Amino acid sequence: MRARSPIEMRPPQMQPLARLPVFYALAAKRTVVAGGNTAAAWKVELLSAAGAQVDVYAVDPSAELVAVATNPPQGMVNLHRRPWSAESLGGAAMAVGAFDDEAEAARFAGAARMAGIPVNVIDRPAHCDFAFGAIVNRSPLVIGISTDGAAPVFGQAIRAKLETMIPQGFARWADDARNWRPRLKAAGLSFAARRKFWEIFTAFAVSHPERKPEQSDYEAFLAATCRNEKTTELGSITLVGAGPGDPELLTLRAVRALQSADVILIDDLVSPAVLDFARREAKKMLVGKTGFGPSCKQDEINALMIKLAKAGKRVVRLKGGDPMIFGRAGEEIAACRAAGIKVEVVPGITAAQGVASRIAVSLTQRRVARRVQYITGHTEDGKLPSDIDWGMLADPTATTVVYMPRKTIGEMTAQAIANGLDAATPAVAVINCTRPDETIAIATLAEIGDRLDQLPAEGPAVVVIGRVLRELYLQTQADDQSTSRLGIAAVSAHSR
Ligand code: SAH
Repeated sequence: MRARSPIEMRPPQMQPLARLPVFYALAAKRTVVAGGNTAAAWKVELLSAAGAQVDVYAVDPSAELVAVATNPPQGMVNLHRRPWSAESLGGAAMAVGAFDDEAEAARFAGAARMAGIPVNVIDRPAHCDFAFGAIVNRSPLVIGISTDGAAPVFGQAIRAKLETMIPQGFARWADDARNWRPRLKAAGLSFAARRKFWEIFTAFAVSHPERKPEQSDYEAFLAATCRNEKTTELGSITLVGAGPGDPELLTLRAVRALQSADVILIDDLVSPAVLDFARREAKKMLVGKTGFGPSCKQDEINALMIKLAKAGKRVVRLKGGDPMIFGRAGEEIAACRAAGIKVEVVPGITAAQGVASRIAVSLTQRRVARRVQYITGHTEDGKLPSDIDWGMLADPTATTVVYMPRKTIGEMTAQAIANGLDAATPAVAVINCTRPDETIAIATLAEIGDRLDQLPAEGPAVVVIGRVLRELYLQTQADDQSTSRLGIAAVSAHSR
């Protein structure tokens, strides 16, 4: 019997391609653009950005074209104020035409093709050898998108999607990869080790896109390569602001962090809707009081976070609002540093900013409020802080936002009034700001404590105090002080 030898399987055949995407190197090459309209100006800019030297032939150049020619992004632009001719095309690497007249378009394309130069006449597919796709520019990382002319708007939409998905910082990492490549080659590593290096590099770049690559990173990757570590061993910690609740208020960077996380440690305050944006496979752990039991102390959260990062996990510490406002971020950052783990912070919309948007009131106003202050209603023991500067709190030219007001707002407002703040100063209490169950009440400083007590006892609350609220206050007085109607009025004022 003949021995059966394994047969090499051919990979499945490539599906037909409507276009071949190629990335043309144009640095210092001569290109020709004929025509002077706005569309031509944009192509001139594009070619110059790609490093080409651009000769433009235009009898009557548009203002945009003159502007690009005067201040080109990279390659030199020579503007010739005369019609193109067959000679203009000599030695060009690429030719682009912008014509209203079909006969001239045909002549231009014909001349270029005769000279063996790839040609594109804007908006005239019959005269195009190639197309300009939509571009996502993270140069040297460049993405081109083509729909073969089938649906350019669709191409644009995909471009917009990619723009949001691909961090700007990838450009820096790609650039450093280019700079590091020759050095790595010179380091005398095997092919397999070099490949390992790039795997480690990539895993790190993808999870730290906003970080500026440093020399020490190169050395760390190289050391990890030599130790033959697994790529996943580079853990990280990112403190991410989840905003006040509405997931649309997440930053793009927050969404990216959530989508590349291995583990997400979640505060009580974080609205569940935000978690829909997290990577499905990420392990989600509630570390607030309700999820972890009352014993979940800050030290335990810190220890857990560090343990996970040391085990190679990309840890996201997701905190309500902005992590740097009443979020004990300082302690978490210090713990990470002490453990030798670099920590990144992604800011979020803090409750005060959420409220300002919902009631459509600017927290600062010329001649009315020169200062905004955020203050906490209580200390760890649940009592009014003993070190409040009451003069500052009673300042009529300040807007004050009280976080965690529920336990002490009555006491705090009484002290402010005793220190000279007008009892009639308007104030707003908002519960569950930017969430579906948001509730808003407006009253005077003297009354706001009682009003807050009448509102639902569940959900986070903030109180805003200050003269900036005067118009809103008067409006609600006229509206019969209806809180629900205020909510609607505020929304419509916001979206107007
Ligand atoms: N880091 C958070 C604040 C944490 S302290 C931030 O920047 O917003 C917790 C307090 O924040 C709550 O007691 C409440 O006063 C306020 N808060 C947070 N989210 C809120 C929301 N959606 N609505 C009302 N208050 C909110």
